[in-house]
Amino acid sequence: MLTCKEFLQELNEFLDETADQELRERLMTHVSECPNCFVIFDTTRKTLRVYKGLEAQEIPDDVHKRLMELIAKRCKCSGASGGGA
Ligand SMILES: [Zn+2]
Repeated sequence: MLTCKEFLQELNEFLDETADQELRERLMTHVSECPNCFVIFDTTRKTLRVYKGLEAQEIPDDVHKRLMELIAKRCKCSGASGGGA
């Protein structure tokens, strides 16, 4: 089970379509179980589509930074070892 922090670290690769199948599955499992990350994933994907339309190929730093701040606010995980359960 990925923590939200790990999810965010892999999100770039996933959206960049460089992630392998196993990683994709782990990320999809996380978004299916974590509403906060789902929102971030969905928003980022849509944002990326717009940016790609404008020719950029990567998530701009400021967008990524904003997402990190957003999730830090919304998720309680401090990044230590993820939540149990
Ligand atoms: Zn999460």
